[in-house]
Amino acid sequence: MHINVRDILSESVGYSRAYKISGERPNLESLELTRDIEGEITISRIDSGLLTQGHLESELELVCDRCLSTFTRPTSVRFQQLFAEEPGDEELPIVDESIDLALLAEQEFLLDLPIKLLHAPDCPGIPDAAGKYTKEDSGTRLQDQARIKKGNPPRGRT
Ligand SMILES: [Zn+2]
Repeated sequence: MHINVRDILSESVGYSRAYKISGERPNLESLELTRDIEGEITISRIDSGLLTQGHLESELELVCDRCLSTFTRPTSVRFQQLFAEEPGDEELPIVDESIDLALLAEQEFLLDLPIKLLHAPDCPGIPDAAGKYTKEDSGTRLQDQARIKKGNPPRGRT
């Protein structure tokens, strides 16, 4: 899901170009897509690199925080993201004169997730040995997300 931006980088500040995204289903590090990514993106030349703006949508396979069952959830995001050849904290990298939209899509889809992921609002959780529902959350996803923000991949992934 790379876009070659050599042409745009050689243009002067203020130049922009629009792209349509369709039928893309990249392998993301920490999210499972159950539908192709559709959307549009405008890439603009700015002083420090590139500004991307647009809209992406897809569908994610998620695990319920409470009962650990798998479910799908549509996602639709509007974004603005800077790319730079020497990226700082707020920027994604331009590598070999191209940008990786999979990185961008993953970041935006993660940000769009609610704090608590439930397969249904009234998910009862997992019954204990006595058959009682505890409504206890596993909490693993938030820990995963915190690690991703710090740049470390979640445990158990390569
Ligand atoms: Zn559930």
